Amino acid sequence: PTVNSFISKRKESDCVADVSPGGTKAVGDSAQERWEAGTPKSLLDGVPIALKDNICLHSDLPTTCASSHLRRHVSPYSATCASRVVSAGAVIVGKTNMDEFAMGSASVHGAFGKVVNPCGVGADRDGIVGEEQRVAGGSSGGSAAAVAAGMCYAALGSDTGGSVRLPASYCGIVGFKPSYGRIPRWGLVAYASSLDTVGILARTVGCAEVVYDVVKGPDGKDMSAWAGGETNGGRADVRDPGDLRGVVVGVPEEYLPAELSPATIATLSSCLTHLSRLGATIVPVSLPHTRQALSAYYVIAPAEASSNLARYDGVRYGERTVERDEDANGWYAATRTQGLGEEVKRRIMVGTYVMTESAYHSYFLHSQRYRRLVQFDFDRVFRHPNPLHGPLPQPSSSPSNPAPAKVNVLLTPTSLSPPPPLSSYPPSDPVLEYVNDVATIPASLAGLPACTVPFARARGAEWGGMPVGVQVIGQFGDEEVVLRVARAVE
Ligand code: GLN
Repeated sequence: PTVNSFISKRKESDCVADVSPGGTKAVGDSAQERWEAGTPKSLLDGVPIALKDNICLHSDLPTTCASSHLRRHVSPYSATCASRVVSAGAVIVGKTNMDEFAMGSASVHGAFGKVVNPCGVGADRDGIVGEEQRVAGGSSGGSAAAVAAGMCYAALGSDTGGSVRLPASYCGIVGFKPSYGRIPRWGLVAYASSLDTVGILARTVGCAEVVYDVVKGPDGKDMSAWAGGETNGGRADVRDPGDLRGVVVGVPEEYLPAELSPATIATLSSCLTHLSRLGATIVPVSLPHTRQALSAYYVIAPAEASSNLARYDGVRYGERTVERDEDANGWYAATRTQGLGEEVKRRIMVGTYVMTESAYHSYFLHSQRYRRLVQFDFDRVFRHPNPLHGPLPQPSSSPSNPAPAKVNVLLTPTSLSPPPPLSSYPPSDPVLEYVNDVATIPASLAGLPACTVPFARARGAEWGGMPVGVQVIGQFGDEEVVLRVARAVE
């Protein structure tokens, strides 16, 4: 078996970045020549980058979203994030495997087979040797596996509820999801539009930052893009990753459930010791609505998905698998039944149901309220106000009842455990897969920047060297602070 991280790969000959049409190469037109002349287009000039297959790329490679429905879909345009890395000189090496339409946590729900975690099983670019195969995490599992196996410098993925962070954590690499809207969504195939975020997977925080600098910033085509300043004041609080004096790191108690594996607890606690050695102050905090976040997400995301996926009707998008006749509803239903996978159909059914008149109030509206409460929980603990919400009224404090400490960042586990065995996926009860997102979903509901980092110092033989990531979460717009603390963790 192979890692199965790519759905389509660019031909080897095309990977020479700058062969102009007709095969003649203009002088000064290759990345190598530009580097030699000291005039590279950017730090990404000539660098191999992979794209998750739900990011549109105008090329002969299809954009399938790992759906057999889009098996032959060639996008007539490129996503903003894809055009930006191409303009920076990067070489797109291929489109990576994923869960169909980004719905899943293990990269096992795609039409192109399961992704295998290359960590700890002696995998290289040709295949897997020995030991038990583990899940790569999802839904950007192909992007994570490609980076972890050394097939590219970095990869772009999408993170709606954790799909960049969970596979990065499972594959032992860095996964960075900026604030909602920081990287334009234009050309990212929509799953749940109010949550969808482009994210970056790379080996180190530094590599992720190089890509982030190229892809961030509004483009005028995405009405939900965030055009705010680089940080809202947090940057000054964390100047140097090597010196965290004055930096307050909050550990939310709700992120330490009884289900956490011993490996995760050990990793988190040695990471906290490391940060306090660098001078950080560690404080416990409470985010009481975290417990409702997972259920709220699994109502809101399917509701938005049921609407977004209506376009795959075999007319506008998707392959019609039956003859068109007078019975439009009939061939429409047959096409969707055959073209879409089980998990996607489950989400469409759930999403349609929670938007019906009878269920709307008890499920959808309720979940939207919880989403707001999750956002306010975060606002209450961060030192800087959320630029979208403004300052909150301050609770009165007295010497006997001091106001709780305000934090610069939060540190949490990314996943409940190291990557589980691939043989147990997909589980017979889908909820067993959904619970893996419990630590990543709150930041998605609030649109906050979050970065998972493999905490290398804690990797021990006792759990077979399997990677465990820790997650740094910051206030909306505070990407720089998140990245600096992530560097300190690294
Ligand atoms: N696992 C979550 C889901 O299935 C998150 C997916 C994602 O972030 N794209 O919805």
